[in-house]
Amino acid sequence: MNKLLILGAGTAGTMAANHLLATLDKSAWSITVVDQDTEHRYQPGYLFIPFWMKPERVVKDRRELLHDGIEFVEAGIAKVHREEREVELVDGRRLSYDWLVIASGTRPDPTLVDGMADGSLWRDKVHEFYTYEGSVALKKSLAEFTEGRILVHIAEMPIKCPVAPLEFAFLVEDHFRKQGIRHKVDITYVTPLDGAFTKPVASKELGGLLKDRSIRLAADFAVERIDNEAQKLVAYDGRELPFDLLVTIPPNVGQQFVMDSGLGNDAGFVPVDKHTLRSVVDERIFVLGDASDIPTSKAGSVAHFAVEEFIDNFIAAVDGRPLPNAFDGHANCFIESGRGQAMLLDFNYDTQPLKGTFPVPVVGPMTLLKPSRANHLGKLAFEQIYWKMLLPGHKLPVSSHMSMAGKRQPKE
Ligand SMILES: Cc1cc2nc3c(=O)[nH]c(=O)nc-3n(C[C@H](O)[C@H](O)[C@H](O)COP(=O)(O)OP(=O)(O)OC[C@H]3O[C@@H](n4cnc5c(N)ncnc54)[C@H](O)[C@@H]3O)c2cc1C
Repeated sequence: MNKLLILGAGTAGTMAANHLLATLDKSAWSITVVDQDTEHRYQPGYLFIPFWMKPERVVKDRRELLHDGIEFVEAGIAKVHREEREVELVDGRRLSYDWLVIASGTRPDPTLVDGMADGSLWRDKVHEFYTYEGSVALKKSLAEFTEGRILVHIAEMPIKCPVAPLEFAFLVEDHFRKQGIRHKVDITYVTPLDGAFTKPVASKELGGLLKDRSIRLAADFAVERIDNEAQKLVAYDGRELPFDLLVTIPPNVGQQFVMDSGLGNDAGFVPVDKHTLRSVVDERIFVLGDASDIPTSKAGSVAHFAVEEFIDNFIAAVDGRPLPNAFDGHANCFIESGRGQAMLLDFNYDTQPLKGTFPVPVVGPMTLLKPSRANHLGKLAFEQIYWKMLLPGHKLPVSSHMSMAGKRQPKE
């Protein structure tokens, strides 16, 4: 019996397990998935919880999302022992494997910024929405906020869903506008990047939208610390931004067991071949989802496209054949822009997000980098698509390879 062990039953681990169960010979393979708890959370919902989404709506039992025939082990992962092909669990048990898939994601670590998790204002006037607990706590503070200065802040890159902080800025602006108190609230978007986003075309469009909504932009802001007493965000270059509410995205890092196993880079992400997702140090290990170091967005959509490319590669690796598929880094992300609209980004390793249209069979083309109602409805529909199509491993009418159809190159 061949043993496949998958570390993490989040977006990537669940999709990979369900896809592989349908593909591999059941009489020759066992598939085991390990996770530290039984609650699978729909993380894109964390963006909406502070505004309108009921928190319980984002949670489902992981075990029910894994198809019959997949074994689930509830335990913390302590270390991968590559030489022995064993994974040590926090409770001391050891699980052996023939092939290992690491799908343990990334986590926000607010202890990495002075005055963040250890400050007196944490979860009071300093909040994050990258965890379930954080988004629920922020909802309460936001409901009580009637006037003052709000900072929406990214501590450092990379972070998962790099557009989520921008979405929060647009939604919070819309929230106060609807309440009729927008004029009493000053909003600043604070980023370590040199503009609103990483790539030139998207940065220009998103920067323009921030301006249209009278949201200030503080770029190149390398945070040094949060001064809790003075309620200020302090940068290494001496800039200080006062706040009444700080909504921050703490540094996102890989999991401790990845670092303890000697598998991670400085931030705890696992170096892989960016096209095959195979570990660069161990050919029995593949890495899916946010846990790897591939140079594209950390996003559920990326995990989905990558898993589709991975399946045939995995079968080929087991057979000792050359890997047939090359993942192109395809990412496809909606950006809530407020006013009941959203933008859409579509890009890969080589092509930056461009303007134009994105063809979708039946529902028609969606607009790229331009707010539209259809994109917003697409973002809302993604929740059901996630639970009912993506996680079970059904095919979507969107290619895992990025297409140039509808995209417009910027004029030189
Ligand atoms: C606010 C927010 C909004 C987002 N919006 C979008 C969006 O609109 N579109 C989009 O595509 N993506 C979005 N994302 C990103 C998306 O949720 C992630 O990229 C995706 O979930 C990554 O999947 P993953 O399997 O790599 O990691 P995860 O889904 O995080 O799963 C990792 C799993 O590993 C487990 N694990 C970790 N360490 C251990 C350990 N030591 N022992 C045992 N188990 C462990 C965890 O419990 C977890 O279940 C958003 C994320 C956030 C936070």
